[in-house]
Amino acid sequence: MKSIVLASGKGGHGLRAELVDRVEPRPGPGELVVKMAACGLCGTDLEKMRGEYTASAPVVGHEAVGTISAVGVGVSGYRVGERVFPHHHVPDYSCYVCRAGNETMCDSYRSSNLVPGGFSEYFAVPKWNVEGGGVLRVPEGMSFEVASLTEPLACCVRAIRKSDVKPGESALVTGAGPVGLMHALLLKSMGADVLVSDVSESRLRLAEKAETGQVLDAKADVPGNVAARTGGRGADLAVVASGSKGAILQGLRSVRKGGRVLLFGVPPVGSILDYDISGLYNAEQTILTSYGATEVDTKEALNVLTSRGTEFARLITHRFPLAGFQDAVAAASAGEAMKVVVTP
Ligand SMILES: [Zn+2]
Ligand SMILES: [Zn+2]
Repeated sequence: MKSIVLASGKGGHGLRAELVDRVEPRPGPGELVVKMAACGLCGTDLEKMRGEYTASAPVVGHEAVGTISAVGVGVSGYRVGERVFPHHHVPDYSCYVCRAGNETMCDSYRSSNLVPGGFSEYFAVPKWNVEGGGVLRVPEGMSFEVASLTEPLACCVRAIRKSDVKPGESALVTGAGPVGLMHALLLKSMGADVLVSDVSESRLRLAEKAETGQVLDAKADVPGNVAARTGGRGADLAVVASGSKGAILQGLRSVRKGGRVLLFGVPPVGSILDYDISGLYNAEQTILTSYGATEVDTKEALNVLTSRGTEFARLITHRFPLAGFQDAVAAASAGEAMKVVVTP
C-alpha cells in the first residue's frame, strides 16, 4: 500500500515526506484497521516537516477518516464497512490532570497514534484509542471530505469553550488560515462580532468568501483598527490562530483592558517574545492556551458539521492524491490554499 513517511532531510534540517510502498497493517487484538478515504493536511504536519515540532518521532496525518476494513480480536461495537473518524490521541480520563479538566495534557494522551499515520491507504487504530471511545461513526449523508474536518474543528471547539465568549462580544482572530476561519465561523454563530486579520491578501479574500466576518490587513495598524471598531476599547477576545510572534503580539495589543488572548496556533520551539509584561498586568489581561481535543470535543465538532457542513466545506480549496503529496505540501505552504485534503 502507498504511505507517506518522514525521512531525514538533507543537511539534517527538517524532515522530508516520502511516498513509500509498505505492507498493509493487520489489526492486533483490540485494534481496527481503517481504509483511508480523506485526511486533512494540518499546519502541524508542515511544522513537523520543517523540524519545528517537539515530538521526537513525528507521525504525519491525524485528520483522517475512512471505512473500517478489518476488526481485531476482542473488539466489540464496530464492524467492517462502517464509516469512521478515529481520533489519533485519547486521554485516560482518570488521572489527576484529566480530572482537573486538562485532559489533553494527560500523560497518556500523546502515547498512541494512528499507525503508520493518516496519510496511508490503510492505517491501524490502537486498542487504547478504540477502547477509549476515540472512534466515532461518520453520520449518514456526511461526505468523507467534510468529516475530515472533525479533528481540527474539535480543537477549535475546545478552545472557544475555554475562551468563554459571550454574545455581543468582539473577537479578533489573527491568522486567516483554515483553523482561523473555523474559529471565526464558530465565534460568529455564537453571536460574537468577528474581525479576521492576516498578512496574506489571498487568504483575506478567501475569508471574505467564506463570510467569516470583517477582514483586516495584518500589515496595517491592526490594534488601531480594532480600537476604532470597538469604541476605542479594543477587542474582548483575541484568538491567535497562527504560531507567528507577530500574530501573538498583535493579539496582545488588540484586546481591551481585562480582555483575553487565546493562543491556539503552535509557536515554533524557541519562540521568545519581546513584550512588556507590565502592560499585560496593568491592563489585567489574561493569556489562555488550548491544545488538542477530547472525545467531548470531537463529538461536538461532528454535530456542528452535521448541521453546518456546507458552511465549513467552503474552507476546503484543494485536494490531492497520496501520489501528489508534495504538491499538497507546496500548495499549503505557499498559502494559496485554504484547507488541503489528501485522498488515496
Ligand atoms: Zn490538525
Ligand atoms: Zn489522564
